[in-house]
Amino acid sequence: MEKIAIFGTGYVGLVTGVCLARVGNNVICVDVDRTKIAKLQEGNCPIYEPQLKEYLRQMIKVGRILFITDAEFAIKNSDIIMIAVGTPPMEDGSADLKYVLQVAQTIGTHINGYKVIVTKSTVPPGTGRKVNAKIAYAVQKAADYDDGAWDVVSNPEFLKEGSAVNDFLKPDRIIIGTDSERARVKMESLYRPFMRSGYKVIFMSRISAEVTKYAANTMLASRISLMNEIARVSEGVGADIEEIRQGIGSDSRIGKQFLYAGPGYGGSCFPKDVVALEDSAERVGANPILLKAINETNIYQRTFFAQKIKSFYNDDLRGKIFAVWGLAFKADTDDVRESPAIMILETLLQCGAHVAAYDPEAITNFSAFTEIGKHKSLRYEDEQYATLRGADALIILTEWPRFRAPDLDSIASILKYPVIFDARNLLDPQEMAGKNFSYISVGRPDVLIK
Ligand code: NAD
Repeated sequence: MEKIAIFGTGYVGLVTGVCLARVGNNVICVDVDRTKIAKLQEGNCPIYEPQLKEYLRQMIKVGRILFITDAEFAIKNSDIIMIAVGTPPMEDGSADLKYVLQVAQTIGTHINGYKVIVTKSTVPPGTGRKVNAKIAYAVQKAADYDDGAWDVVSNPEFLKEGSAVNDFLKPDRIIIGTDSERARVKMESLYRPFMRSGYKVIFMSRISAEVTKYAANTMLASRISLMNEIARVSEGVGADIEEIRQGIGSDSRIGKQFLYAGPGYGGSCFPKDVVALEDSAERVGANPILLKAINETNIYQRTFFAQKIKSFYNDDLRGKIFAVWGLAFKADTDDVRESPAIMILETLLQCGAHVAAYDPEAITNFSAFTEIGKHKSLRYEDEQYATLRGADALIILTEWPRFRAPDLDSIASILKYPVIFDARNLLDPQEMAGKNFSYISVGRPDVLIK
């Protein structure tokens, strides 16, 4: 049993805290957001993530997790301190380390004995050194420090939103970047409960661990961007990207995952991490030609899909009404950060269209945290078929399971015209043709009913 403090109760910090408590540790979660902490203290989960709410309530009930804003208490009563605060992009694309370094400063001010300080946030190479320096500086100024040692370890997080709890409990691998034997032993023992099916820790230098996180996200993002580019070729020459996906995914060197063409990747990680790695590459003169292209083709893909909708209406969307299914950046999450829906809805609404939108979990975030979510011509519905009333077409933007086998007869009878734009290729073009729908998807020939 370890005593752990976690700074930041977002997707990473909260999932980490709940999962570490679940295997028997005592966890103190700290956040500067008082509203969030008050919610959590009452067992209310501020984010949607499968299984999280149930586990959170269990852990509160057995008293193994505590939610507070008192950083000093958390630091003094823990042996492992995890930093899981945000690292948003700055204007130049580099990661903003303000929150990470604020936490480091607080740790240095209140540290009262040996601690392993773990950076879980995604941070640029060299951040471990900065965190260490910040702590050292604060320690010098603080009066009550009584032991001269701490270790700063990099332990990037690889969970996926939508299956975060499962990913944390059953990780593919655990990366630990440190050259301290003392920290190494502590971290290995912390993660032992998650390695019942086999040893999963990969130790490396702290700076390699920092780069590994960016490299993993960039690799995955590159697959999506490449597939989207091939989808555009495919569409142009009359091929079907879904057939091509099957054809290449069955090659064991390529594999099946992250090969779906769509409206481009979104979320709080891929977009910012690709650009942050590009920034790190620029700083050391590594000429990031490919990194730039991954990001550019992703942005282009959103424009491309929005343009397909516009082209269908001869570039005149004035007065058109669209039903939109899906606002989250992907299925099974309420996260709308960098969601392709933002840019696509911006295009539609700015061109004079009206939108009725539905998402199983993301409406609150979309209406609260995006500018376009407050547009006067956008209304929200709490049931997916209710969006269809009076609409000229349905647009599917997120691959939620409930959108994958919709009642096509109902859709046809409620929509003004049987037209579907499907940014996720959820439906079958042949079936759509058979049901007399015009059906426009990604990287596949359009089905156009005259
Ligand atoms: P988030 O924005 O959901 O949460 C961050 C939290 O940190 C917020 O609640 C904020 O109030 C809190 N915070 C800010 N400053 C603080 C301070 N000084 N003390 C205590 N709390 C503070 O962020 P997230 O999505 O959980 O991401 C956190 C980090 O993990 C980022 O670096 C991200 O890139 C990385 N990451 C995210 C994911 C993901 O899927 N979301 C996956 C892997 C890694």
